[in-house]
Amino acid sequence: MIPYSRQSINRKDIRDVTAVLRSNYLTQGNTVPRFEAEVAQYCGARFGVATNSATSALHLACLALGLQPGDRVWTSAISFVSSSNCALFCGAEVDFVDIDPRTFCMSIDSLKLKLSKAERDGNLPKIVIPVHFGGQSCQMREIRQLSDKYGFSIIEDASHALGGEHLNNKIGSCEYSDITVFSFHPVKPITTGEGGMAMTNSEKLSHLMQLLRSHGLERDKTKFLGTTNSEIWNYQQVYLGFNYRMSDIHAALGLSQLSRIDKFNLKRNQIARNYSKSITNLGVTSQQILDVNFSTFHLFVVRIQLSQAKLAQKKIFQGLLNEGIKVNLHYTPIHLQPYYQALGFKRGDYPEAESFFGQALSLPVFPKLSKLQQRTIIKTFNRLIDSLS
Ligand SMILES: *Cc1c(COP(=O)(O)O)cnc(C)c1O
Repeated sequence: MIPYSRQSINRKDIRDVTAVLRSNYLTQGNTVPRFEAEVAQYCGARFGVATNSATSALHLACLALGLQPGDRVWTSAISFVSSSNCALFCGAEVDFVDIDPRTFCMSIDSLKLKLSKAERDGNLPKIVIPVHFGGQSCQMREIRQLSDKYGFSIIEDASHALGGEHLNNKIGSCEYSDITVFSFHPVKPITTGEGGMAMTNSEKLSHLMQLLRSHGLERDKTKFLGTTNSEIWNYQQVYLGFNYRMSDIHAALGLSQLSRIDKFNLKRNQIARNYSKSITNLGVTSQQILDVNFSTFHLFVVRIQLSQAKLAQKKIFQGLLNEGIKVNLHYTPIHLQPYYQALGFKRGDYPEAESFFGQALSLPVFPKLSKLQQRTIIKTFNRLIDSLS
């Protein structure tokens, strides 16, 4: 069986994790701060706040930006459910922006139209969460210009995109956003087992996310409220926070993995190039990568644009599975999930996302996917698609 994605673990990863297991601190030692500093340095942000998942980091990011019940958050209609669930965690309302059918990222034209309508109707979003689909950045300069015009904050969901570049900046530099979130789930560019990180250039947002990550406890006495707290062991709970901390065991794996991120991403790019040049049927298109982007190719998504696309998609999906190739579909549009349907979203709300859903397949991409496995995937895929067109 060839999985659609898989982590790459080497001896150094195992050695470094084991070293933490032999040390005095399994959590709240110095490995997490080291990992935060190295990721921040790698992507050119001032601060990184490590968490136990990207989902937690997205939640912290929304809270730090002051998201409250009654506020609105917009994200891409094609993403993992966390991109919008984080808003619901805060009691805010969610709405979606349709995708660009070529880049699979949030469509700037749809965003513009939706914003001007929302301005008229008096229901502008407080936060917009662009999703860097498959590791390709959204058009952040345009989104930033719109945020200056309409006054919303920006959280980049860069769960797919550690090591990606946009307009000569590393994704995560927060050049155009308030906060950028990475995921370290095993299928993502690097892994900590489970984990995530929120990057920011704002000291205030970083401090708030640190407090909220650990029960809302302030330990810096100069920031204490009132004047009676002089005991050395004291802390104050100043917010209702969570335990979203990353452990030092996880951070050790992350640090070791980070030293190989560029190698991983080059390998993924080689695989993507190989797929692109070998899949030549005119009924198949893949993600258009803009010139200003370097994608991590977390995903390689093809769109099957034959007549009866939905049937073709099913047949190819099943055909590949029968040959032991575990393709996947990223993603069911969030508004079509039963939970969101119950909130009132309807089929037809985001036509480009729904059309994508009826055509898309993710072929396997991960650093250890061998040349032979790639040949098997390409041969099988081409045979199936030719038999249908
Ligand atoms: C994986 C993913 C997440 C959630 O990441 P976790 O670390 O598993 O919480 C959020 N958004 C997107 C786009 C993702 O792909």
